[in-house]
Amino acid sequence: MTVSRVLLLGPPASGKGTQARHLTALVNVPCLGTGKLLRSEIEKGTEVGKQAEQFISNGEYVPDQLIMDMVKSWLNEDPQKSDGWLLDGFPRTLPQAEALQEISQPDLVIALDVPKENLERRILMRRECSSCHSTVAVENSEQVECPVCNAETLTSRSDDAIESFKVRYANYKELTTPLFDYYTAKGILRNIDGTQSPDKVSAEIDQIINQF
Ligand code: ADP
Repeated sequence: MTVSRVLLLGPPASGKGTQARHLTALVNVPCLGTGKLLRSEIEKGTEVGKQAEQFISNGEYVPDQLIMDMVKSWLNEDPQKSDGWLLDGFPRTLPQAEALQEISQPDLVIALDVPKENLERRILMRRECSSCHSTVAVENSEQVECPVCNAETLTSRSDDAIESFKVRYANYKELTTPLFDYYTAKGILRNIDGTQSPDKVSAEIDQIINQF
């Protein structure tokens, strides 16, 4: 079977964004990262951004309706997306999964498994570059120089404070883990050990896609 509709599931900082870049090139479909899009809406000061801002900075999920409207309009804005897509960070709740099922059914769900202790460490070391928009892991918490573009513009995401991470992780456990059973029952969930190096995770993804 050819895979053209893929979901990436996993806790905060499990490496979804990195693997989304790998997958979108591999499967050759447009990719939506809902967290990324929400941050750009906030930066632009749009109505959606204004509604989402408080939830995100508190580490809470944004309301289902807001996220579903955003995803629906992304899916509808380009006819090419009826041929396939990659969604990174959506769905995160059962109502979101059920709403997606009504408009377009995923072929494959890739879940990245990383224990909480590893995630906390990653969150503390995660930075974003405001010049080239890369997400990188720093070696010490004082580092401001981006290893990709060399500009001294690395900053932490406002929701990467450890308190906010704890709320996000608790929400993930409570609201997102039911999706594992939901997609297992459909026979389309595949788990990967996300503590491996990014290249190894990508190699496992390649294998899953080839065997699907
Ligand atoms: P992470 O996976 O590290 O939490 P993301 O960039 O994927 O980071 O998401 C950042 C924030 O955006 C989330 O903490 C949440 O507030 C919001 N968000 C993104 N996608 C969804 C979604 N599908 N449902 C609800 N909130 C979402």
